[in-house]
Amino acid sequence: MERWKTIIEPFRIHSVEPIRLSTREERAARLNEAGYNLFDLHADDVIIDLLTDSGTGAMSRDQWAGIQRGDESYAGSPSWFTFRDAVHQLFPFKHIIPTHQGRAAEKILFSVLGAPGKVVPNNTHFDTTRANAEATGAEAIDLTPSHEPGTRLPFKGDMDVAALERLIDERGRDAIPVVFVTVTNNSMGGQPVSMANLRAVRAVCDRHDLPLFLDACRFAENAWFIRQREKGYESTPIPDIVREMASLADGMTMSAKKDGLANIGGWLAMNDDSLAERCRTLLILTEGFPTYGGLAGRDLEAIAQGLAEVVEEDYLRYRITSTAYLGDALAESGVPVIEPIGGHAVYIDARALLPHIPPLQYPGQALACALYVEGGIRSCEIGTVMFGLHPDGTESPAAMDLVRLAIPRRTYTQSHVDYVIEVVRFVAKRSAELRGLRIVAAPAQLRHFTARFEPLS
Ligand SMILES: *Cc1c(COP(=O)(O)O)cnc(C)c1O
Repeated sequence: MERWKTIIEPFRIHSVEPIRLSTREERAARLNEAGYNLFDLHADDVIIDLLTDSGTGAMSRDQWAGIQRGDESYAGSPSWFTFRDAVHQLFPFKHIIPTHQGRAAEKILFSVLGAPGKVVPNNTHFDTTRANAEATGAEAIDLTPSHEPGTRLPFKGDMDVAALERLIDERGRDAIPVVFVTVTNNSMGGQPVSMANLRAVRAVCDRHDLPLFLDACRFAENAWFIRQREKGYESTPIPDIVREMASLADGMTMSAKKDGLANIGGWLAMNDDSLAERCRTLLILTEGFPTYGGLAGRDLEAIAQGLAEVVEEDYLRYRITSTAYLGDALAESGVPVIEPIGGHAVYIDARALLPHIPPLQYPGQALACALYVEGGIRSCEIGTVMFGLHPDGTESPAAMDLVRLAIPRRTYTQSHVDYVIEVVRFVAKRSAELRGLRIVAAPAQLRHFTARFEPLS
């Protein structure tokens, strides 16, 4: 190891995108026009965009070169073989089926496996995974162990294995078409899953002859945490850790917009021949021919190169350390954040920061709006706006009111992050002045995308 403690971005900048700097006054006006919903802003009016880490990363020189090399033959394109081999290197599943993004892989898999009466367990379902399972009439069940918030555990994303056993006992193995483990556990704050937990889940699946699939969107970040925190992996190369994770599963779904380091793409993979055949039939109906799925040849090239880069140690050290740099700086200045800091985002506990704003006046939304007005930072409320509305039209507080600062990959520099820290500290110091909001218009479902708000005085 080198002696220097400053961990630098392991890349130089090759092409720049301008950031338009706006004034507080302008931003207040734009936010008002957007009905206090950050999804309705023009992205040019955002200074630092931390809405999501999905598809927002910067591609490398070699990925752009791959874009040029992309071969758009309808069937059997060389770019398909490059893609297939790159996926196969890390995830040696027998069948690899490209899709336009992660949810398309989910849609296809659950269309084959899901049905009313079926139950899909997962450590924690991502929202599109849950929605695609439920759209078939199946039940999506989260088996997240309950921890006190703030408990510092190295693998807080683990599945509750005892709960999985109980579920199989109660519902019967025939009701369960597949067991899912999401790495890292996105909805739990990007917390990692240990190899020991994956092995324990595998053992349960073996005993009951159940297939295990990975929702592998952040597989490389998960592998890095295993290497850092799990005994026996201190010197295991990252690709070997990834292959070991894959060896414990029968298949996977993937969004290349995360650890594919690409702006679009995904895939579905599995060992089971007959399942693969049924999935490919659906793929042709909704995505495309099996050698391109929903993607252009050039996208397949970008993903293949992204997979080579995402498992590089210098990249992962920088990635995970820079997320922790933001989280630790906020925690040190007394801003309540969810700890330990996960891989791809920092979550501010808005309910704790703004105790004077009741959950049904949306403290998370109030904080997200303040970060935008003061510093042009776009974040995402993950709380009562997102989860508080029930299908019967009633509303109740979500379990937590969080604001997520998701970090796009290789996109912002340390000075951008220092700016974010300064703005969050400024807003936190004046938190008593923040006021809640009320919803003036909202659709019946997924209201967080389009609801309009009014500030309360
Ligand atoms: C993003 C994501 C998905 C869905 O992928 P898309 O490419 O956005 O469709 C599924 N699972 C997890 C854990 C994700 O983070």
